Amino acid sequence: MIKTIGYAAESATSPLKPMEFDCRSLRHDDVAIEILYSGVCHSDLHTVKNDWGWTIYPNVPGHEIVGRVIEVGSAVHQYKVGDHVAVGCMVDSCQSCHHCHDGEEQFCVEGFTQTYNSPDRHTQDITKGGYAKHIVVRQEFVLSVPQSLDLAKTAPLLCAGITTYSPLRSWNVGPGSKVAVIGMGGLGHMAVKLAVAMGAHVTVVSRSHSKKDDALNLGADAFLISQDNDSMEKAAGQFDLIVDTVPVKHDVTPYIPLLKVDGTLTLVGQVGPLAEINSVPMILGRRRIAGSIIGGIAETQEMLDFCARMQVMPEVEMIKMQDINQAFERLERSDVHYRFVVGMQASDF
Ligand SMILES: [Zn+2]
Ligand SMILES: [Zn+2]
Repeated sequence: MIKTIGYAAESATSPLKPMEFDCRSLRHDDVAIEILYSGVCHSDLHTVKNDWGWTIYPNVPGHEIVGRVIEVGSAVHQYKVGDHVAVGCMVDSCQSCHHCHDGEEQFCVEGFTQTYNSPDRHTQDITKGGYAKHIVVRQEFVLSVPQSLDLAKTAPLLCAGITTYSPLRSWNVGPGSKVAVIGMGGLGHMAVKLAVAMGAHVTVVSRSHSKKDDALNLGADAFLISQDNDSMEKAAGQFDLIVDTVPVKHDVTPYIPLLKVDGTLTLVGQVGPLAEINSVPMILGRRRIAGSIIGGIAETQEMLDFCARMQVMPEVEMIKMQDINQAFERLERSDVHYRFVVGMQASDF
């Protein structure tokens, strides 16, 4: 058993504080990881505050994990002590349903085991995430970090990266595709970088001019202001895919006419009811509103390898674990460029 320490929330209103706990003893197919870096996802904040009503306390969040293997179970042959590895939003699934067989564990018919806030499939103990010094994970859910990737910057790829990579792949984005990205936070900035790296023509759609320079610096080809009716009308019917990363309730109706016939707007940020939708632009253009959640393990490895090959890396702000509560306050105001990453080695628990 590995004794470790993490940052935990005791309730929806209490700040995160250090908490000692034990990682489970290694099963034959387990990998024990010393966590080096942990990304800070908006879902961590939603979970800590119980915004979705399913949080179990004490809660140790974090599902953008990069670390070093320190021990492996007897049946683990893919990883050895010293390897740099990563863990994303899933740590287990049934491994026998058709979705698991197809490598889409995120759709496991039994539901996948989340990296934190989920009962372990064997012990029912509640999983604890990346805001900690160590984690023990079944080998099938451990990813290999390509050597050329910067370890700290790799962390946000495990949620923000795959959440935006997967829909771009599902809707066959490539050279010649026209993609629009709504929202320029942790998810949106990755959607821009990944779509550009895939060869698409990328437009950022925003409410004001304020993010124009940032968008173009990230590689976007064009910038469209959603409040500017003339520009929105001129852009009608242009896009194959719109990736909507806005994390709060909003109205998608104004964006639908931007799609080509058969085009798709996919939601990846907001979880819950949308503002009322007008069906007219959907019906008139056979346009679709869809959703997407992370990606399977094989696709996540493919994304890491793609980012290594194309040198696509998130923009990060490094913080220490003890600064997490201030980081959450800034995240709440969208005051981050564009993802916080906790350096565990620099942290003083
Ligand atoms: Zn996340
Ligand atoms: Zn399954």
